[in-house]
Amino acid sequence: MRPVVIAHRGASGYLPEHTRPAKVLAHIMGADFLEQDIVATRDDELIVAHDIYIDTVTDVADKFPGRQREDGRFYARDFDLEEIRSLRAWERMRLDGTAVYPGRYPLRTGHYSLQTFREELQLANRLNAATGRRVGIYPEIKHPAWHLEEGIDMSPLVLEQIHEFNGATERDLVYVQCFDDAEVRRIRSELACPWPLVQLIGKNEWHEAATDYDAMRQRDGLTRVAEVADGIGPNLDHLYTISGGEPVSTGLVETAHELGLVVHPYTYRADDLPAGFDSLEALVDFCVSTLSIDGLFTDFPDQVVAMLEQYDNNHNA
Ligand code: CA
Repeated sequence: MRPVVIAHRGASGYLPEHTRPAKVLAHIMGADFLEQDIVATRDDELIVAHDIYIDTVTDVADKFPGRQREDGRFYARDFDLEEIRSLRAWERMRLDGTAVYPGRYPLRTGHYSLQTFREELQLANRLNAATGRRVGIYPEIKHPAWHLEEGIDMSPLVLEQIHEFNGATERDLVYVQCFDDAEVRRIRSELACPWPLVQLIGKNEWHEAATDYDAMRQRDGLTRVAEVADGIGPNLDHLYTISGGEPVSTGLVETAHELGLVVHPYTYRADDLPAGFDSLEALVDFCVSTLSIDGLFTDFPDQVVAMLEQYDNNHNA
């Protein structure tokens, strides 16, 4: 089966991440899923933003000087939705104000904004209805343990709102993802999530959650994941090592498949290729043809969709 193309933060290679235009563009480009990262505002609204901080993707520091915490960061949780609506959303910067991806949308320009999860679901519903395409959603519950310390239990709220997506009754149009393995377990058991669950696999040094990702990638760890999840979302470099200039599988995808898990790695970027690959096409080709991944997160959905269509044509010829 052809791997599914997940538009990572929308068509974020082309337009500022998680803005409405980035999601519309991804839909038009033929992505199978639109991704949502979800964090909470001070007034307990769910918004779509990649980090608990909003200072590297908006003008919050200009508009609300003095509202940072002691660590110097501006947190979505410290602003009401109406304040967040007043912000301009921008192409992602580093804290020093330089571009994370220099060839992308010019920094500090454009009239974009962040939106709520609910608004994004409405947008997806409208685009699907207007085009007749069945594009799914792929919400990620960000930092559930941190949010709980901040007084909000994210997962039940996210699961409740997913029902507002018109594809919510179709099992193949929704995936729920999270880095926190204790929360993935809770979402499946206590919260009785009806949708497929993807356990994201990060790196321990990111401190995404109190999860040991090195252990998780071993057979025993994956066996535990498979008790509650339907798939894994590993980092690209968990999939292979480079040996003699050639990529060689680490065995992660094979083990996951043996355990019945689908594998949706992140992140496929034409402008930020991992060592060992000189083009996005070569990277996608290795992961699809050799490793048989089941889906992938990409900032460039049009390019990946075109590559996969080419495969289909070649295989049918
Ligand atoms: Ca994400």
